[in-house]
Amino acid sequence: MVVGARLDGATAAAGPVAVALRGLTKSFGDVQAVAGVDLDIYDGEFLTLLGPSGSGKTTVLRIIAGFEEATAGTVLLAGRDVTTVPPFDRDVNTVFQDYALFPHMSVRENVAYGLRVRKVGKADRRERAEQALASVALAGYGDRRPAQLSGGQRQRVALARALVNRPKVLLLDEPLGALDLKLREQMQGELKALQRDVGITFIFVTHDQQEALTMSDRIAVFHAGRIEQVGSPAEVYERPATEFVAGFVGTSNLLRGATAEAVLGRSGVFSIRPEKIRMSPADDASSPSDGSRLAVGTVAEVTYVGDVTRYLVSLDLGGQLLGVSQNVAATSQQVEALRGLRVALRWSPDAEFEVTPDTTDPGAAAAILAAERAAMPGASVHPLEEGSAVPPAGGA
Ligand code: ATP
Repeated sequence: MVVGARLDGATAAAGPVAVALRGLTKSFGDVQAVAGVDLDIYDGEFLTLLGPSGSGKTTVLRIIAGFEEATAGTVLLAGRDVTTVPPFDRDVNTVFQDYALFPHMSVRENVAYGLRVRKVGKADRRERAEQALASVALAGYGDRRPAQLSGGQRQRVALARALVNRPKVLLLDEPLGALDLKLREQMQGELKALQRDVGITFIFVTHDQQEALTMSDRIAVFHAGRIEQVGSPAEVYERPATEFVAGFVGTSNLLRGATAEAVLGRSGVFSIRPEKIRMSPADDASSPSDGSRLAVGTVAEVTYVGDVTRYLVSLDLGGQLLGVSQNVAATSQQVEALRGLRVALRWSPDAEFEVTPDTTDPGAAAAILAAERAAMPGASVHPLEEGSAVPPAGGA
């Protein structure tokens, strides 16, 4: 086997491989949590494992850390097979969502704890702990107890505690999950900047597609224990390879069956992002001369969401398409008045992508997505319907 061979076709410059996963599977009784994962993660990369609840991403992270044993397959760290090596003998550290700080210790003692276990001398311990605290903008906080810090500061202490060991690879399991939205967005920026500064490989688990798109060099999208697609945020968003990725990462219209035949003159399943669709009054429904697609319909739903407005249009040819427009001048009253209006939708054929249909049980997939989306603020959930152009799941 050639360690370091690209498996994903990503365009980022590939350096040496920090972590290689080969044929990884994991079963818990009847549940197959991980169903054959192959992945190369490169030195200094920020790679995100993204997927809905139960898709297997945490289990993969725990197998890399050594907290879980794979049923089959191999884990290589910098080319060394560590599949059966215990956690403490792997050059990785994990940051958990609940921080897991010791409440009775000071911040400095928390950060230095791993060094104390490894019998590093007191002066060295103190210096490295101070350095690690400074790297997460907490210089001067060493004497406090965790209870005397805010949630964001506690998360930074957890990061410092991992960074102080200077691991080759840092594993982060939904580390921002417990923070409120504003702090979460601030920490996303800080974490990304920190990763760039320290140059450590970050493997970051989240179910939040916005977080993944914002922070990652590459994203591996998980579904039912498998990786559906690996690529840069732009590749995954702009060129979703599968029906599942199109629906889970951002919002997509899916055209299939009779609707795809009628609207596109093509058979298969196709994804079109709402923001690629332009809308104008239907009296302007002359055939486009620039080769763009045209579909006429009636505005069925209008949702004003502050910066943008979403339109659900019932097409004369059957099915529905979701469009979105920036509220540059429009007010909420003006956009509400569009309900029931006859409109013409146009988009470039370049915005249509054929995607691989979801082969997992569609009922189960829809239920997972619906549950996942319902847990996200501002989300809208649409059923998956065979033969109609219904957006599978609205993105926040
Ligand atoms: P979440 O975002 O909810 O943590 P996830 O994508 O990280 O989800 P995993 O935690 O990896 O998913 O779980 C994958 C599947 O394996 C789920 O069906 C889960 O119930 C199951 N599972 C995970 N750990 C165990 C365990 N220790 N015993 C039994 N089943 C487990």
